[in-house]
Amino acid sequence: MFTEQIDILRCPAPHEDSWLVAASTHAEGRHIIVGTLGCPVCKASYEIVEGEVRFSDAPLDTSSGPMDTELAFALAAQLHLVEAPLPVMLTGGWSRAVAPLRTLVPTVSFLVGDAQSLIQLDDRVSTLRLPLTGIPLATGSIRGLALDAVHASDAFLTAASSVVCTSGRLVLPASSALDPSLWRTLASDGHVTVAERLPVASALVPLRRAPAKPLFEP
Ligand SMILES: [Zn+2]
Repeated sequence: MFTEQIDILRCPAPHEDSWLVAASTHAEGRHIIVGTLGCPVCKASYEIVEGEVRFSDAPLDTSSGPMDTELAFALAAQLHLVEAPLPVMLTGGWSRAVAPLRTLVPTVSFLVGDAQSLIQLDDRVSTLRLPLTGIPLATGSIRGLALDAVHASDAFLTAASSVVCTSGRLVLPASSALDPSLWRTLASDGHVTVAERLPVASALVPLRRAPAKPLFEP
């Protein structure tokens, strides 16, 4: 886990938003290879093993090879990966795009959830094993998210509308339904749908009455 990306991780337990405190037992460069992330609210502890944050202990098969360059290039267009002040997250099968995207979009940083192929960690790439309950990231902290079929659950779709920033992109299976008040569909080709996060309606500012005090005291 790249230390500078730890800031945007959040405890996935159902309580108020909380950042996580990192303890490193082995680091390489600015990556924690072995350590833990602890939640100050519920005291949960998440292990970092071989550089990967384990929000889940479910085993993963990482034997898939990288995606071919053409498909990865299509994903880069769908996620609008031109300049990237915020990272993007690729889940499951989309993790196979990381290898070709490293060279196609050299300024973008990635969070990889439940990798299906071996991911080389560096200053632009961190891996997470995701909880089933959603995406353990801060509100508006990523600018793009690709959900594969396994990750297009209701819990992940709900989380997506929180963690993807305004105007950020979502790529998901075409069979998934999106809330049109939160997402604008940009394209759908029968396999994947590409959508853009609509601006969050700002909370109404309550109008406050001026204090009932005469301008001039009699
Ligand atoms: Zn917690």
